[in-house]
Amino acid sequence: MRITGVRAILTAPEGIALIVVRVDTDQPGLYGLGCATFTQRPTLVSRAVDEYLAPLLIGRDPRNSEDLWHLMSVNSYWRTGPVLNNAISGVDMALWDIKGKIAGMPVYDLLGGKCREAAMVYRHADGRDPDEVLDAVRGYREAGVLAVRCQMGGYGGRVGSIVGSDAFPGAYYDPDRYARATIELFDHVRAAVGPDLHLLHDIHERLAPIAAVGLARALEPHRLFFLEDALPPDQLEWFRRIREGCATPLAMGELHTNPVEWRTLIAERLIDFIRAHVSAIGGVTPARKLAALCESFGVRTAWHGPGDVSPIGHAANLHLDLACHNFGIQEVPGFSDALREVFPGTPELRGGFLWANDGPGWGVDLDEAAAARYPITAGVVGWTQARWPDGTLWTP
Ligand code: MG
Repeated sequence: MRITGVRAILTAPEGIALIVVRVDTDQPGLYGLGCATFTQRPTLVSRAVDEYLAPLLIGRDPRNSEDLWHLMSVNSYWRTGPVLNNAISGVDMALWDIKGKIAGMPVYDLLGGKCREAAMVYRHADGRDPDEVLDAVRGYREAGVLAVRCQMGGYGGRVGSIVGSDAFPGAYYDPDRYARATIELFDHVRAAVGPDLHLLHDIHERLAPIAAVGLARALEPHRLFFLEDALPPDQLEWFRRIREGCATPLAMGELHTNPVEWRTLIAERLIDFIRAHVSAIGGVTPARKLAALCESFGVRTAWHGPGDVSPIGHAANLHLDLACHNFGIQEVPGFSDALREVFPGTPELRGGFLWANDGPGWGVDLDEAAAARYPITAGVVGWTQARWPDGTLWTP
């Protein structure tokens, strides 16, 4: 069996650039699909796939996914960057899709079979003030959702520049105001919804490290399901300070691209949930190993699942969720009709759970004619230019 083609396909059914990789074989009708979405730099990923991975892989046996993952990883000599990891993920997931189609089994069966019927999800509630957020939380609860992430004003504390100059355009926020308002928000929401609903919050790395320590401690009485991205990936040592001060469960990892970033966090039990973005770490091959490592140390999975993951990528998250004993929770956006049209077989969101179909591989296809009706627009990203009130650029 041989690989005969590898190519990237770009589409944006919801206005968000998605990148899918299709791997074709010499077997009639046998192909695989994988997610390579790095929505901030989509054309770089597609060129890495088309110009470097395709010539590297054509003619090789698609069944040897483990060897091919290592081949793709070391072939560039320098490795573990987000562009190449996403390109590798697109191929890696496509090879698992092919493997499932050869076996006539869903990938979750190849990974050990179901540990659960469906994956518990959390949804995202936002609002300008605590009452607006509470309204959104109640709406989700009425729809059967069991866990809700509460944020106020996007990721918090939006302000203008205090300097009054427009020399530094960006998304301004006040970290002190954000931290205070977040405590008030959770006082309000927890008092209104009672103890049973799972509540989550994402700091999104927006605080100085010691302020993150303080917020984690202040939120402890509200018994969060988890507190997400309290610190940026270059300040991981501060997790020890958070751990010393409170028992707020911690989730980390959506920006990780290299195993050295998560190894200590897991081995020292400094986090409770790993939140890696599966395509950004290189696909299902490294993700299943990461999940197994976490299981040994009592850490659960909570794979990153925003709108800038294709339905193929959401299916990959879900198949890992179903097959890994140490699954925790799954982030998921809604899936629009346009997305479902382009990606037939997209997982089904019902109430508080995400359900997979039983088709072979990922069970998700790509309608290329429909995908072509939603071209991407590549350009400079605005929201990542986060600034403090005096104009200082901060991690977004
Ligand atoms: Mg996050």
